Amino acid sequence: MKYFEKSDKLEHVSYDIRGPVLDEADRMIANGEKILRLNTGNPAEFGFTAPDEVIRDLIMHARDSEGYSNSKGLFSARKAIMQYCQLKGFPNVDVDDIYTGNGVSELIVMCMQGLLNNGDEVLVPMPDYPLWTAAVSLAGGNAVHYICDEQAEWNPDIADIKSKITSNTKAIVLINPNNPTGALYPKEILEEIVEIARQNNLIIFSDEIYDRLVMDGLQHIPIATLAPDLFVVTLNGLSKSHRVAGFRVGWMVLSGNKSKVKGYIEGLNMLASMRLCSNVLAQQIVQTSLGGTQSVDKLLLPGGRVYEQREFIYKAMNDIPGISAVKPKAAFYIFPKIDTQMYNIKDDEQFALDFLKEKKILLVHGRGFNWNEPDHFRIVYLPRVDELSKIQEKMTDFLSHYKQS
Ligand code: PLP
Repeated sequence: MKYFEKSDKLEHVSYDIRGPVLDEADRMIANGEKILRLNTGNPAEFGFTAPDEVIRDLIMHARDSEGYSNSKGLFSARKAIMQYCQLKGFPNVDVDDIYTGNGVSELIVMCMQGLLNNGDEVLVPMPDYPLWTAAVSLAGGNAVHYICDEQAEWNPDIADIKSKITSNTKAIVLINPNNPTGALYPKEILEEIVEIARQNNLIIFSDEIYDRLVMDGLQHIPIATLAPDLFVVTLNGLSKSHRVAGFRVGWMVLSGNKSKVKGYIEGLNMLASMRLCSNVLAQQIVQTSLGGTQSVDKLLLPGGRVYEQREFIYKAMNDIPGISAVKPKAAFYIFPKIDTQMYNIKDDEQFALDFLKEKKILLVHGRGFNWNEPDHFRIVYLPRVDELSKIQEKMTDFLSHYKQS
């Protein structure tokens, strides 16, 4: 009998999206139990609908989207992305520097596949959006995690980044605004990262999919705007800002100094051609989506759903004994800390599983984001306040008797 195993390429890839907690949730759902799912950043699941004009656009373009597009994407979509970037101050961006993708996800994998040889190192934040770590490993590289510091509003720890650079380091990844912490990086931190990249010849990859989901009157600064002399790849898309995660539409933008990356760009062009093109119908909505005031804006102001839910969950978490959380400034995630001594928690996945079984609420444990201690979990605060209030109530009750054996 011949057995088929996963390929050696996947040997070192860690992507714990599935695991005992989700398996248990599926089992409970199959048994007819109702579960509050706070594990995916999928706005449509929580009643956030796409703007009408976007849906109209999509329907109108169905007929002329039947064929493949240029492998980098439709001219109209790329031109709109180019203008979006130029308005934000990106240096040296032309239509040819823009690639559309089936979500940012496809492009994360593509840009790592095109760059890395076995043993190359990429600096990846910890905690991270775990696809970045997985994509580095899949491409044969080593993800070297640098600390984002909870004591400093979850900003990247510059000294830690510096200490982790070796002769094999090729690139640094930033997720700004951040999933899972909700942090938004200030200019000084971004400038320090640019300086490190400058001194050490690193490519900067900046995942900015939450750049339009910023609260408190703060401004998102694309790192590309601070690095005209460096090569920067910025990734963005419509899944979150336009609540169309299922349409699969994202893009990446190459900016700044391209004098030393001709070969890499050839590689990216080849990979883009190999998948022919990204979903053409989804590309059709880019121009309408990026034009003018962003429809997500009012959700982020006081009185808006995302803002009010953020206010609620921040207070609710900090009111629970043994839990503390930094206030998120952007996106729709919070990454609270739990006092592991108080509850004798040694395994955060077990904690999430026990909580799910008892209270029917699905969270993701911190190590799912490559965090190195069992003392965090992530909540997606997209559900309405009445749903979110159940978390506070249920977690308080759960922790009143919980002790891990
Ligand atoms: N990057 C980050 C930081 C994310 O949080 C997500 C989705 O949650 C993605 C990328 C993937 O987005 P897309 O739907 O465009 O593939």
